Amino acid sequence: MDKKITIAIDGFSSTGKSTLAKQLAKALGYVYVDTGAMYRAIAYFSMQKGYIKTDYLDKQSLVESLPNIQLQFQFNTELGFAEMYLNGENVEKQIRTIEVSGFVSKVAEIPEVRAKLVEQQQQMGKNKGIVMDGRDIGTVVFPDAELKIYMTASAQTRAQRRYDELIQKGDQVTFEEVLRNVEERDYIDTHRSNSPLVKAEDAIEIDNSNLNREEQFELVLKLVQDKIKE
Ligand code: C5P
Repeated sequence: MDKKITIAIDGFSSTGKSTLAKQLAKALGYVYVDTGAMYRAIAYFSMQKGYIKTDYLDKQSLVESLPNIQLQFQFNTELGFAEMYLNGENVEKQIRTIEVSGFVSKVAEIPEVRAKLVEQQQQMGKNKGIVMDGRDIGTVVFPDAELKIYMTASAQTRAQRRYDELIQKGDQVTFEEVLRNVEERDYIDTHRSNSPLVKAEDAIEIDNSNLNREEQFELVLKLVQDKIKE
């Protein structure tokens, strides 16, 4: 049987990390974990409890609540991917709104939040055979991952992708609003003191501004096959 490896995919928001990760997981029979969904679920929880509002974050209450937050992925066979459950409730739709996107990076800066999620992520990947995407997977969660991919694309390209997705879902947003959110998250994610988004030294960088899904998938699948053979 083929050797199972760990694949870490990091990069800015809306670089198509999750699309690539899902394609790889399906082709390889690996588990796919979207770590952004976990941070988003915590942001959604904080919004519901009133711990986070525009220009307000009650860090202490959130940190005290962490032991009561249970996050779980459940595979949906119809959709072909795992959905996020927060304390037993399917929150897959709720965590993808522009409001959650506006708060999530502030929640993700909190060291206690990161510690909780990183531990859960490491548990999920302990048997390898996993594709995980996020911001700190190759640097913090799995520094020994056999294959690390770092994805980039211009902020304009990424905002356009995100905008198209949101409009298709029926959300009322403007392109400027989405671009602002993408740039704001880029800034916070790369400047926070705890686990900022950086390219791991041994990561392979892919700028997909001018690559379509299939080209990108073929490129990375080849890298995976080479690693498995090593
Ligand atoms: O991947 P996605 O855009 O859904 O992630 C939402 C946010 O969660 C990011 O902008 C970032 O602030 C945070 N995040 C993180 N570390 C990860 C995954 C996501 O800080 N591993």
